[in-house]
Order: sequence, then C-alpha cells, then structure tokens
Amino acid sequence: MYMHWQIEYPGDGDIAVLKLAVRERDDHESPLLKQNIFRISVLREMESALVYLNGKWRAGNIRGLVIASAKPRTFCAGADIGEIEKLMDAPRAKTEDLLAEAHSVFLYLAGLRFPTVAAIAGECFGGGLELALFCKARVASDYRKTSFWFPETQLGIIPGFGGTQTAPPLVGFPMALAMICRGKKLSAKKARRACLVDKVVPHEVLLAEAVALAKALAAGRKITRTLPLWDHLLSSALCKWYVFRRAEKEILKETHGAYPAPVAALHAAKNAGGNLFRGQGLPHEVKLFAECVGSPEARNLVRIYNAREKAEKSDWGAGSALPPKRIGIVGAGIMGADIAYAALSQDREVVLHDIDPTVVAQALIRIEALFRTAVREEIFTREEATEKLARFTESHRNYVAFSRVDFAIEAVTESRAIKRKVYDALAEHLPHDAIIATNTSSLPLAEMAAEVHGNHRFLAMHFFNPVHLMPLIEIAGHAGTWGESLARAIAFAGLLKKTPVVLNTSCPGFIVNRVLFHYPHGALEAVLAKKASPYDIDRVFESMGMKMGPFKTLDLVGFGTALSVLKTLSPYYAAGRTLDTGVIADAVKRGILGQKADKGFYLYEKGKKPRPNNAFFRSLGTPSGRWEDEVLIAEKIYARMQEEAQKIVDEGVAPAWATNLACVFGAGITPNKGGLLPW
Ligand code: NAD
Repeated sequence: MYMHWQIEYPGDGDIAVLKLAVRERDDHESPLLKQNIFRISVLREMESALVYLNGKWRAGNIRGLVIASAKPRTFCAGADIGEIEKLMDAPRAKTEDLLAEAHSVFLYLAGLRFPTVAAIAGECFGGGLELALFCKARVASDYRKTSFWFPETQLGIIPGFGGTQTAPPLVGFPMALAMICRGKKLSAKKARRACLVDKVVPHEVLLAEAVALAKALAAGRKITRTLPLWDHLLSSALCKWYVFRRAEKEILKETHGAYPAPVAALHAAKNAGGNLFRGQGLPHEVKLFAECVGSPEARNLVRIYNAREKAEKSDWGAGSALPPKRIGIVGAGIMGADIAYAALSQDREVVLHDIDPTVVAQALIRIEALFRTAVREEIFTREEATEKLARFTESHRNYVAFSRVDFAIEAVTESRAIKRKVYDALAEHLPHDAIIATNTSSLPLAEMAAEVHGNHRFLAMHFFNPVHLMPLIEIAGHAGTWGESLARAIAFAGLLKKTPVVLNTSCPGFIVNRVLFHYPHGALEAVLAKKASPYDIDRVFESMGMKMGPFKTLDLVGFGTALSVLKTLSPYYAAGRTLDTGVIADAVKRGILGQKADKGFYLYEKGKKPRPNNAFFRSLGTPSGRWEDEVLIAEKIYARMQEEAQKIVDEGVAPAWATNLACVFGAGITPNKGGLLPW
C-alpha cells in the first residue's frame, strides 16, 4: 500500500510493526535504497500510516506500535541531502512551512495514546534519530554499527525535526548539547548509559524484544530512566545557565565564530523541556533551521559533503581492482606505525620494517596503544583487537618477509638517497606485480620513478598525520604508472575507509602541501620580519575558519619536518622569495621542536591549554615597532594559497572540486568557505 513503509502484525497481532523501507524514487517499482533516508514523501506516508494505525487502535485491533527498519542492519541515515540543497535555494517561508509540517507529523506520533517503541539496528542518524526520539521508548540492537548521531551541524544546519527539543529532556543538557551542537556520536551501550535508549538486546531478538516492550507498556508497565548522577545534577534548572555558558564557550573556542550552526543549535536547545505541543521550542527550532540552511556556510559544507561522496564513489578513470591482502611497510616512524595500525584494523596482514629495531619495537607499542583506545571507544572488542594484532609481523634484518606482500608502502626518512636504497631492496624481494607506494610529502615523484625498477607499479599514496584521524589520502602516478596500479591504490584507500583524491599528474607536495607551503612560509616571513606576532596571526586565521593557525600547524608538524618540507618545496613554489629560517634551525638545535618536545611557538602541558611561548618569540628578535595589521597579513597569505590552488587547476593537476576537497580534508583549510576556490 505504501511506497516507503511496510506494516506487519507479528505473533498474536496486537502490536503493529511499521517498517521503514525507503526506495530510490517515489514509485512502487523503484528498488530499495541500501540505507533509509528521510524525505518529505517518506514523512507524508508515515503520517497516513500513523493515522491508519491509530484507527486500528481505536477499533481495539492493536495495542501498540513498533517502528523499525525493513533493512536489518540500518535504521535510518538521516535526511536526503538533495532535499536539504533544494531548501538552500528556496524562500525562507517554504522551509518554515515544510518543517512545521514535519513537526506536526512527529507531534502526531508523540501524541498517540498507545505505546510506541523504536527498534534500532545500525545507523540512527539525524532525522532517523529524531523519529526514534518521538517514540515513547527505544530498544537498540547490540550490532556493532548501531550508533546515534546528529550530523547536522557538520553540514552547517541544525536538527530540524524536533531533535533540539526531544533529546535534552531524555539525556540531560550536557549530553544533549554535546550531541546536538558538537556531533558527539554514541554507540548502543553508551546510548543506554545516557538514557537515550531503554534497552540493548542481541541483534537476532531486536524485533521480538521491541514488541515485548510495547506489550508490557500497553499492560501498564512504566519505564524509569535514571540519568548518570553528574548529567542529572547539571540538568537542573539551577545549573542550566552554567551548562549553556560553558558549552557556548567551548563551541566558540572550536569554531572561532566562523560556523554559525553549532551556536544556533545551542540556542534552539535552550527552549527544550517545555511543552512540546504548545511551547515555543519547536517554532524556534524552525526559525533557526531556516536561518542556517540559507547560510553560505551550509552551502559550502554541503558542497564538501557531495565532493567527498563523489571522490569515494568514483574510480577516477582507473577502473576497478581488489584491495590488497598483505601489506608491507618500510619505515616504522610516525607514519609507518600509524599506517600499519590502519591496515591491521581492516584485517590485513602487515609486515613493518625499519632499519632500526628499537623503532619497530616502539611502533608496536604505539599500535597496541591505538588498539587499546579503539577497544575503550567500543570500535573493536578486546578479542577482535587481539585477533587483528596477531596479523602483525616485525622486520628489521632483511626484507625476506616481503616476498608475500602484494602492496608495499615506503615511509622512510624524507631523503631521495635513502628512499632509492629502499626501492632497490623492495624490487629485489617483492613479487613482480606488487605495488610500491611512496608516502613522500614533498619529493618529485617523476624523478624518483626513474630510479625504481619496474616503475609501472610505482606511485604515491600520501597519508596525513595522524593517519587514524585524517580522512584523506592523495594518490598520484607518474607518466609510466599503469592504470591498474592506481586502481589498486584507490581500492586500498577504500579499504582503509579514507577519501582518495587522485591527481591527474603529479607535482611536488601534491595538492595539500603545495598549497599549504605558503601558510607557514608567509607567516614565518611576517614574524621573522617582525611585522606581527605569531599569536595574532594564528588568531586571525582561526577566525577565518582555518582549523589551526600556521604557528600551531608548525608546532604540530614539528620544526624539523616543517623546515625540511619548506626547503624541498621552496625551489618550486617560493617564487624567488627566500626565507631565512636560521633562527628556527637554531631552535631545533636547542630542543625547541614543536609539540612533540612540548615547546615550540606554544608551550604544551598535559591537560592544559597550549600557552604562547613568549620567551621563544622574543628570542626571534625585538619587534620593530612598525607592526602591520595582522588581518592584512593573513589575507595576503590566504590569497597566495588561493593562487596556488588555481595553478593546480590550470596546470591540469586536479579539478577545482578535488582541489577544494583535498585542502579541506588534508589541511582543514576553511571548510566554511568550501575550500579555496570558487565552486
Ligand atoms: P620518521 O622519521 O618518524 O620515520 C622514518 C623512519 O624511517 C625512521 O624510523 C627511520 O629509522 C626509518 N628509516 C630510515 N632509513 C631507512 C632504511 N634505509 N630502511 C628502513 N627504514 C629506514 O618519519 P615520518 O614522519 O614517519 O615520515 C616518513 C615519510 O612520510 C616521509 O617521507 C615523510 O615526508 C612522509 N610524511 C610524513 C608526515 C608527517 O606528518 N610526519 C605526513 C605525511 C607524509
């Protein structure tokens, strides 16, 4: 009867089950989508199904309702992005009408006088979570991917189907604000602890348990929800102002005012706890949603979202290939260890090799620590982590273990001479069809390729630090790289759940470091010429929407690495401007290395906010007293990055959409502006 919903009456039939089964299009013949998403047509059908079921309840035919998904391992992944995009161009009144209509459907659900229980397995995101929150109770499956998330602020909007009003009374203000404003994701277990769901049950019995709960509620059972003590205390009327002020401060610290949506979500949530049916909470949410959806930030964040989808679904003209089975990594430093962890996490066999056995031992300690964190965060169970770690082999004496490897990654010190030696060893020991990928940050791939035996299988796979958190991998071939080799690298990126950006032609530094070169270069130039303070420059860039100012970036990357990348890339991109980095090189000698040594342009103390390292700043020389406006300096540097991005497009290295995506995902360059280039 319905296109996107199915009604069933299991067992004795006194509890109806309404299953969400969204199709690709609004017609009965259209195939089912892999994941349910909310569209206005889905919502309208839901209303008519609820009216129908309410009639059945009035007639005494049913006693309760379970809302579930017809797809066993995904509940609902949120709203249809295409429909959100249409609202961006629509008059504000249309958005407000549409949301008011959605609210009236959800209020109808909330007002039903019989028990309603959501049965949730897999993703329960955005609109899907809001649907579940309007039910009277929620049962979640213990399936590992069951998770609860409001992704809206990451798209520049706020939850618009009532989530800002329904979540706070249930989970308390601190948790609700973390979820609504800052996109905190909860696993089933954590959702249970937070009172977001009432029960977590084995996946196989999810529906039966939800039906049983609906029956019990119909028989008069009451649900008691006890918030964790702290959440309970902080949700009292007395503490509310404090919780909101603190949350606002944290949001502003993170966003520097460049992203309006998290603050709008916070303001919407302020009204929560009143009367859902007659209060001002829902109308206020509508107003704030309409403001956000019309903002340039939302448009740009959605563009980035679409570019990511495109990058992940495309084969980049290389054709398809299977991901590798056995990975060999040479160089067990910062990058090698983290790439090994990423591959082990995806159940691959990994050989990790370094010239220095103590480095391999340290890498293993780091990998074990990453697995421990993953277990703590419920990404893997302890048994799974042990099983994955068992696929790890260490190597240092020779390359014998590489004879079974089908994909090798070179992550040794950034030196052509050292890397060349490694390629010789790999060519000798690897199977002839295994891929050799370099993780170089700045060296010229085409010139390196000339030194690799069998270089049709040689390419670059540029990972970002820290690998387990950074979503991007830049992939580039040289003129002789076979398409099949690129396809295998793209498949490997997919396996690691990373977004690949594949360059048409390679250039030193690829996209991200080529653009980013101008960031510390320009900023250091200004500070060394005593035109501005590093702290002012960082502040200005962060308020422009950069994730991190140039001096915090220098500290994070480390002075040594940053200097070497600047030196290597200068001949290509400095346009003759020489930067005298002697004072920084001296600082390296004195142990001022950046974050890893707890001191750089900032001082780092565990558990504390980084503080300006004024002594170091003063040691760079006395300010001339003729300081320039730091905003102008930042704008000049930003313009240089934009020029470089435009050159990347003009030279045919990559199209604008991929360049923007790489800049945002690889370096946090102004997602609010959609990257650097016009779309
Ligand atoms: P690192 O100094 O932490 O590790 C390099 C490792 O290579 C060291 O452990 C060293 O012992 C080992 N090594 C040196 N010569 C070797 C040889 N002949 N055989 C085997 N091992 C050898 O460096 P890193 O930061 O991990 O960088 C590695 C590569 O990744 C570099 O090319 C770098 O440009 C690139 N990269 C680094 C970052 C970053 O943020 N650190 C990001 C992206 C790419």
